[in-house]
Amino acid sequence: MKRETPVERKARARKIIRLLERAYPDARIALTFSDPLELLVATILSAQCTDERVNQVTPALFKKYRTAAEWARLTPPTLEPQIRSTGFYRAKARSIIGMANALVAEHGGEVPRDRAALTALPGVGLKTANVLLGNAFDEPAIAVDTHVFRVSQRLGLAKSNDPDVIHDQLTEVLPKASWTRTTHLIQAHGRRTCVARAPRCPVCPVRALCPWPEKTRA
Ligand code: SF4
Repeated sequence: MKRETPVERKARARKIIRLLERAYPDARIALTFSDPLELLVATILSAQCTDERVNQVTPALFKKYRTAAEWARLTPPTLEPQIRSTGFYRAKARSIIGMANALVAEHGGEVPRDRAALTALPGVGLKTANVLLGNAFDEPAIAVDTHVFRVSQRLGLAKSNDPDVIHDQLTEVLPKASWTRTTHLIQAHGRRTCVARAPRCPVCPVRALCPWPEKTRA
């Protein structure tokens, strides 16, 4: 593929979004939640873990602990065994309890609807903040998880070793109104077709717009 101008890349990105929408109309966030606090806990648990595994663990937790104050009162020895199967359970327990204490101390127990306030919470980075903004608060937001990180680079829409830089590059190339939806579409594409080890290029719906259409041959 010849070198693109920023205008050409934006036009290609729009076409990619249209084709991904057609291919994955059912794309949606995979984590199960019913309010912003549940989504925040689930997203912290999803680091280095599949969403399916998180969804197995969270129903029992969400039944027991319903408010930030209830999460804040937990101790690591109580929480750790309950989240052990999600991996990195010590760090995740610390993050969840610290995050809940900060919500109680600084936000009246509510999850703030603001990127800077979210990323100031213990254990909450840009990706987690954007998952919250996009899916609990209906704000346009791109969450760069492992799929968005890999697929956006394969598609030549961004390039960096740093997910936060990928995020900033994607905000330049994708229409703002589509940020949250495009996150879901790229994640669906990354899970079902442009998978990590052997992408299914011969059946890829955006093959004609990809710089690496023969990454995997038939
Ligand atoms: S052509 Fe292959 S590498 Fe390119 S987006 Fe499709 S599956 Fe991924």
